[in-house]
Amino acid sequence: MKICVLVKEVPDAAVQKRIDPGTMRLDRGGEKNLNPFDTHALEAAMQIREGGVIPVEEIVAVTMGPESAYRALTKAVSLGADRSVHLSDGALAGSDVCATGYSLAKVLESESPDLVLLGQQSDDGECYTIGAVVADHLQMPSLTQVIKIDVSEGKLRCERQAEYGYDTVEVELPAVISVGDAINEPRYPSLKAIMGAKKKPKDEKSIGDVGIDAGMVGADGSKTTVIALNPPPPKEAGEIIEDEDTNETVEKIVAWLDERKLI
Ligand SMILES: Cc1cc2nc3c(=O)[nH]c(=O)nc-3n(C[C@H](O)[C@H](O)[C@H](O)COP(=O)(O)OP(=O)(O)OC[C@H]3O[C@@H](n4cnc5c(N)ncnc54)[C@H](O)[C@@H]3O)c2cc1C
Repeated sequence: MKICVLVKEVPDAAVQKRIDPGTMRLDRGGEKNLNPFDTHALEAAMQIREGGVIPVEEIVAVTMGPESAYRALTKAVSLGADRSVHLSDGALAGSDVCATGYSLAKVLESESPDLVLLGQQSDDGECYTIGAVVADHLQMPSLTQVIKIDVSEGKLRCERQAEYGYDTVEVELPAVISVGDAINEPRYPSLKAIMGAKKKPKDEKSIGDVGIDAGMVGADGSKTTVIALNPPPPKEAGEIIEDEDTNETVEKIVAWLDERKLI
């Protein structure tokens, strides 16, 4: 089995996020890191390999992003991927979720994986949709919010988190699975793995290498445009009830909740 894991470089969680009003895009300057949700997808791939139910010949980390995104790939291979593919091309700048999903699908098409794993969401865009878009382009079944994977020959039995509990779903391979962070506890890379990461093969791809139609990517090829940005309305000041007489305080709180139909 060949597993491709989609990984993304995102601004570090400690960095204050800011939209650039000039480009209407997230300012991606400052410290960056591998999207934490993707470490769970990499760990899931490693556990499938180590589980030994079916042999995993290769785990390939795939990213689309500017030159700096190679650092996310280096981290991904230090966490266990055997090699990486970096799609980077000026024509991709400004791609929205449809264009990003299409581009990643074209890279995956050239890799022919049996399983595509990805995080449930990115820490910056938080669209939660790349898995579905990629699966649609690849014409593969898609499962989201998966928190348990049992492997058998040619298929997976997955548990996915739902609002009402868990769905247990069997899916035939090839498939695209986005994993929730409850699926596992990602390992830390060993010093040896960190040192060895730079030696693992890394392919650089431009849009022409994987047959991406330039008209379907970038700001012009995107189906969405950010027209305006508005800060959230300021929060109303809360009401402070001084506890001078407890019975009266309780009455006031109950009346306050009742007024808002909260009880
Ligand atoms: C009009 C518009 C313009 C934009 N311009 C830019 C831009 O110029 N530059 C830019 O970086 N973003 C840009 N974005 C944001 C970009 O479209 C999103 O980052 C992208 O669509 C993916 O969304 P997400 O990361 O929130 O996906 P989610 O669905 O939340 O991510 C789920 C998973 O998908 C995988 N994934 C997501 N993105 C990638 C990736 N690039 N490579 C590999 N795996 C990935 C990861 O495994 C991640 O855990 C733009 C968005 C809009 C709407």
